[in-house]
Amino acid sequence: MHRTYSKKTLWRALLLGALAVALLLLIGLDFWSGQREASFEKSSLAMGTVVTAQLYGPDGEEAAGAIFDALQALEQERLSWRLSSSDIARINAAAGGSVPVAPQTIGYLQQAAAVSQKSGGAFDCTLGALTQLWDIGGENARVPSQAEIDAALQTVGYQSVSLQGGQAAVAKGQALDLGAIGKGIACDEIAAMLEQSRLSGAVISVGGSILLWGQRPGGGDWKIGVRDPRGEASEQLGSFSLPGGYVSTSGNYERTLTVNGQTYHHILDPKTGYPADSGLISVTVMAPTGLLSDALSTACFVLGYQDSLPLLKEFHAEAIFVTQERAVFVTEGLRQSFTLTNGDYHLASAG
Ligand code: ADP
Ligand code: MG
Repeated sequence: MHRTYSKKTLWRALLLGALAVALLLLIGLDFWSGQREASFEKSSLAMGTVVTAQLYGPDGEEAAGAIFDALQALEQERLSWRLSSSDIARINAAAGGSVPVAPQTIGYLQQAAAVSQKSGGAFDCTLGALTQLWDIGGENARVPSQAEIDAALQTVGYQSVSLQGGQAAVAKGQALDLGAIGKGIACDEIAAMLEQSRLSGAVISVGGSILLWGQRPGGGDWKIGVRDPRGEASEQLGSFSLPGGYVSTSGNYERTLTVNGQTYHHILDPKTGYPADSGLISVTVMAPTGLLSDALSTACFVLGYQDSLPLLKEFHAEAIFVTQERAVFVTEGLRQSFTLTNGDYHLASAG
C-alpha cells in the first residue's frame, strides 16, 4: 500500500534526521579528539631517581599505575644490589658460588658483558667492590687509599661472570653493580608494557634515560633537550629530534664528592680505579635499546670522544659529546637534527 505524507511531516522528518546525524557527528568528533588529546602525567621517585611518565591516549592513569608498579618490582626482584631480595644482591651474596635467577636477569648480564667486551672493559658491571668503596653520592663517600683501590680493582673483570643453566655466578670477592644500566633496562621494560596498552604515544624519563614511544600528539618527531652539563638541571645546551627510541646521558655533574677542593664524580675508570678523566663532561647516546643507550653513555664517558666512535658504530648508536673545553661533537646520524642553543658552547668536528 502506498502511503502519502504531508509536506510538513516530511520536512519535520528531514529536520529530525539531520539533527540526529549532526548529534552523532558531534559525539564522534568529540570522541576522536578526546582520544587524541587525552594525556596523563605522573612523576614519582623510583629506581633511586625521579621518573616521569607522560602518556597519550586512552587509559593513561591505569597505564601509569602499572608502569610504576613494574619499576618497583624490577628494582626489588632483579636489579638492586642493596635489597637482599633481588637477583643481583643474591648473586653478590653467593659470590664464589652460583644461584638461580630469572631469565631476564641472565639476559641483562649477557648484554652488559657484550658492551664490556666491545668497550675493552671501560664499562664493567663487576665494578661493585670499587663503587662501594668510593660510595660517591652515598652516605659513606670518601677518597679511598691507593691500597684499597688496588685491592678492589683485583676483583673487577666481567670475564669471571658465569651464566649457565638459569644460574648466575660471580667470582669470590667480586660484586655486581648495575647502576650504569638499570635506568635503561627500566625504559626497555616500560616499552614492552606500552606495546600491550591502548596508548598512542609516551615520553618516559628514568633519571638520565629517556624512552620516546609511539606517535607524538599532533604528529612529527619528538624533541629532546640536551642539558647544559655546567648549568642547572633546567638549563639546556641544545636539542635534537627523533621519531622515537632510547636516549641516555651520563655526566660528571650527577653525583659528586668534594675533598680538599678536589671534586670526584661517580663514573669510574676500571683501568685506574679513579673517576674517569677522558676530557668529557657529558655524553648523550641514542641506541636501539634502553640498556644499550645507558651502558654506552657510561662506556663513552670513560673512553672519551675518539675511542668511543668504533664502539658506537658496533652497536648502531649515535652520540653527542661535550668536552671540558665546551666543544660539542655530534655523530653523523644526529648532526642534521641537532641544534646548539647555548652560546657558551661551540660545535666541533672530528679531528
Ligand atoms: P647515572 O647513574 O648518573 O645515570 P650512569 O648511567 O653513567 O650514570 O651510571 C653510573 C653508575 O654506574 C655509577 O653510579 C656506578 O654505580 C656505576 N659505574 C660507574 N662507573 C662504571 C663503569 N665504568 N662501568 C660500569 N658501571 C659503572
Ligand atoms: Mg649509563
